[in-house]
Amino acid sequence: MWKIGVTGGIGSGKSTVSQRLQDLGAVIIDADKVAREIVEPGQPALKELDAAFAGVLNEDGTLNRAELARQAFATPEATEKLNSITHPRIRERTNALFAQAEQAGEDVVVYDMPLLIENGETSRVDHVLVVDAPDEVRVRRLVESRGLDESDAKARIKAQIDRESRLAAADTVLDNGGTVDELLAQVDQFWSKTVANR
Ligand code: ADP
Repeated sequence: MWKIGVTGGIGSGKSTVSQRLQDLGAVIIDADKVAREIVEPGQPALKELDAAFAGVLNEDGTLNRAELARQAFATPEATEKLNSITHPRIRERTNALFAQAEQAGEDVVVYDMPLLIENGETSRVDHVLVVDAPDEVRVRRLVESRGLDESDAKARIKAQIDRESRLAAADTVLDNGGTVDELLAQVDQFWSKTVANR
């Protein structure tokens, strides 16, 4: 089983790339999805977040993600506090998903992980695929298509590793400074060349 880590800053186009790789036959392990699952009501991480941050639960007991993000991305210390609660749970669950894919005899698994490099997780995969776009392009896309406000988008980008360090860790870089079609063509080429000849 060949493991591809897809990473890139928020708004770089990771989901778009992962979706195409899934269409081409890969199984996806989505770290963001896992991150949401481990903070569902009844999960231990939710209790710990409630204890560590003020007022981050909705009345129905679910996580108020916007409020948590506001507090957790305000300072490096708060981000670290969030990570220390969530990251071990995410790792445990993704390990289980990798094992499950291996058992099912999957050929190619994609680990879609925004913080692959920041968290030192590149050794968990065989190939690091970085989706790259300039910061200002990412801010614009996040504001236009995801409805984030500009200062929130910028703060999230700032909380992540800088572009140069991310590119330095890449085995392959996909340039998403252009159109979606141009990005998808690069994914197809990656699949037919790099994945096929691994
Ligand atoms: P990520 O998963 O890295 O946060 P997404 O793939 O969700 O990024 O892309 C962020 C947003 O930008 C999405 O709404 C997506 O449809 C849009 N998008 C991605 N690539 C492009 C592109 N080349 N041109 C215009 N919009 C794009």
